[in-house]
Amino acid sequence: SAAIVWFRQDLRVLDNDALQRACVNHECVHAVALRTPKQWLQHDWSAIKWDLYERRLVTLANELAELGIVLTVLDVPDYAAIPDALCEFTQRHNATAVYWNRDYALDEVRRDHQVEQVLVEVDVHVNQLDSNVLVAPEQIKNGKGEYYRVFTPFFKAWLQHLANVGIPAPYTRETIKRANQNTAKHDVTAQAPAQTARPVLTSEAWSVTEGDVRRKAQRYVREQVQDYKQQRDLPALDGTSMLSAYFEIGVLSPRVAAHLLQKQSPDFPFGLSEGAHTWLSELAWREFYQHLMFHEPRLSRGEAFQVETDGFPWRNDKVEFAAWCEGKTGVPIVDAGMRQLNETGWMHNRVRMIVASFLVKDLHIDWRWGERYFMQRLIDGSFAANNGGWQWSAGTGTDAAPYFRVFNPFRQSEKFDPEGSYIRRWVKELADVPTKYIHDPASYLAAQYGQDLPYPVPIVDHAERRTDFIAKFKVAKSAA
Ligand code: FAD
Repeated sequence: SAAIVWFRQDLRVLDNDALQRACVNHECVHAVALRTPKQWLQHDWSAIKWDLYERRLVTLANELAELGIVLTVLDVPDYAAIPDALCEFTQRHNATAVYWNRDYALDEVRRDHQVEQVLVEVDVHVNQLDSNVLVAPEQIKNGKGEYYRVFTPFFKAWLQHLANVGIPAPYTRETIKRANQNTAKHDVTAQAPAQTARPVLTSEAWSVTEGDVRRKAQRYVREQVQDYKQQRDLPALDGTSMLSAYFEIGVLSPRVAAHLLQKQSPDFPFGLSEGAHTWLSELAWREFYQHLMFHEPRLSRGEAFQVETDGFPWRNDKVEFAAWCEGKTGVPIVDAGMRQLNETGWMHNRVRMIVASFLVKDLHIDWRWGERYFMQRLIDGSFAANNGGWQWSAGTGTDAAPYFRVFNPFRQSEKFDPEGSYIRRWVKELADVPTKYIHDPASYLAAQYGQDLPYPVPIVDHAERRTDFIAKFKVAKSAA
């Protein structure tokens, strides 16, 4: 019999449950991906993520062709058009089953439900797998049978679950080849789909072959992960894996990453070095936020996790917002981060936290504005991780930083970019400022340049805005 594998946020051949199962259970497998430009715009996909996705479709088509599987790329405007398009595709290939790996945000859950309904009506069997996370959202619950709202107990349960069920070795190309018995009969040439319209910012700096991505992960875990705990907060270093974009579109599966760590400890997920353990906890954060999306559909509708925080009187000053977006706030670490984002589509995690805190707690701008701007720029833009990161920073989320703990961006800068190297790399006007002044250069620049400043003075007074934020947030929370 024939089956369809529908590729979405799982653009990989290796360790892809949907692909593997389809190949084991059917003699003939067709692959399909659907591009939905209108939907991607509605979901604020950045140009660079869009470009990465499209480039990956081309290499995926080649990698599947080597296994004798044709990838067809269909173009429809949005999710609403998918059920009919997929149903027609399935019938055209006389397929009796469709396989996919689940996504967990509301629009995707609804989309999949609608597709399932249409397929079931024409007697096509739907198989949904959980290959994009190590632990599926239904698999862990607290003592009351509810999902975890706080990360630390979640992480404990998540680790225990991994210890109980173990991590099977990821599927290899050979298993798929063996399973896909049809391979020998097929002579498949991949047809590169023409690009859709949007991308203007190229993602060429990011390789999209599965071999390269896997080697990057292997190298990181072999050579750097042990130092992760010490290095991950220093934006001037390349101390983190830079794999997030690959996790997001699924070129790399978390199981492959976990398997690499497993080689470092026979007691995996326990017994890891401090660095490896901390890195594993980041993979758990990624899943924590996906679980939250799944269990709290209202988060997908833009609601704060702590609804009462929605009473905060946001200033939403458009001029200040523009200064933040452009990296012209006069606070060097904030501007460096925003410029890194604008120029490369990526920003270091520590700096993401600093710029987010600044937008919310210094500028008093609704965190959703920042969330949206990030999505429109990030190469790794992930609805769940981004929403989680913003709500954490804003103090509105589950497990959030307490609202009264406000980052001082100048102190953060001194602590995490002590030499100012990260600042100088991205804020060229400050390249010659001595280290002593680099974090807060206003007085130095005034003495050097008088009125004709090459770089703005801070657009707000941190101490004043901080006090004001705490007072108003307290009122908003207690009024609810
Ligand atoms: P590493 O430090 O090497 O971590 C390994 C992997 O763990 C990452 O690739 C990522 O998949 C996951 N991860 C790490 N930290 C987090 C975290 N805090 N939450 C969830 N997953 C995590 N991450 C995204 O993938 N997409 C986003 O859109 C995104 N938006 C963010 C917005 C804000 C305001 C904040 C504070 C954080 C955001 N993050 C987001 C989380 C984090 O900043 C990035 O995952 C990380 O910087 C990616 O770099 P890396 O691959 O080198 O990560």
